Amino acid sequence: MESYAGPGPSASTDGLSAHLLCPDCRHRIGADLVCTACTRKFSRQGSTIVLLPSRLDASKTHEEETWRVLPHEGENQPAWKAFLHKHNEVFYFTETILPHLDLKGNVLEIASGSCWASALLKQRFPVVQMVASDVSPTALKKGESLVQLLGSSVDAYVACDLENLPFEDEYFDFVFGSAALHHLGALDRGVSEVSRVLKRGGRFLGILEPASGPFFGSIWESKVGLAGQRAHEHGIHEAMYTANQWRDAFERSGFSAVEVVREWDWRYKLTHWLPPMYFRALEFVPKRWIGNVLPCSVNIRATK
Ligand SMILES: [Zn+2]
Repeated sequence: MESYAGPGPSASTDGLSAHLLCPDCRHRIGADLVCTACTRKFSRQGSTIVLLPSRLDASKTHEEETWRVLPHEGENQPAWKAFLHKHNEVFYFTETILPHLDLKGNVLEIASGSCWASALLKQRFPVVQMVASDVSPTALKKGESLVQLLGSSVDAYVACDLENLPFEDEYFDFVFGSAALHHLGALDRGVSEVSRVLKRGGRFLGILEPASGPFFGSIWESKVGLAGQRAHEHGIHEAMYTANQWRDAFERSGFSAVEVVREWDWRYKLTHWLPPMYFRALEFVPKRWIGNVLPCSVNIRATK
């Protein structure tokens, strides 16, 4: 694979380091990674700047423990395997999302995991300053090797809590997340943090979030559902909201032009056996049921 050689100097993390906030006291962090107010000292793990709050919910520390042992993407798995594991998402993203984006400025990916989307975004828009973030430093370490594998580059990796983002107000032009927000314990807090770090007129795009009415949602969240099994086994959050609840959460946080697009294209699920059959069947039910009664994916577009 060819590595990227951009037309101009690539964005540098020096730009970002002047805009970091302490997750404990919300004051500025100095260039030496020491908080200018509470003097807490932060560190790097490889390329990742670790800006996690001193106190973190158990579900979030469990995310880190889960990332260490994930069967395809865990600490000891090769980057190519982590990338292949996401082939449905990558296929969907590169075919239906990426061609319609036009990005510049500062871009943040939330809950980046193995950073495949950050890698592809930076490859397509080399002029942006691409910041990948996740609560798990282990995930970002995997991300770093995956980004290299794809011949891409990411400008900064930041381990942080999505409900307490360590970036100053109105720093980002675009925030992206793939299947990110449904892992939060407090959706509103995460959405309002995304809103806070976006510039006025900045945009959020979240893809592949689950949506369903309460009946199927409770099955999803229970031990019977696949996500529920994961949640119970690892002690992490796997929440489900209706398409309308997704919209309301963004409108409550002051976003305008909130668009929740329900998605049930079976072609991007082809390598599973049940989802393509289910998604095909959805073509025969009243559209208003989808996402508010029956499960589907939603993409959320919102402007601050
Ligand atoms: Zn501080």
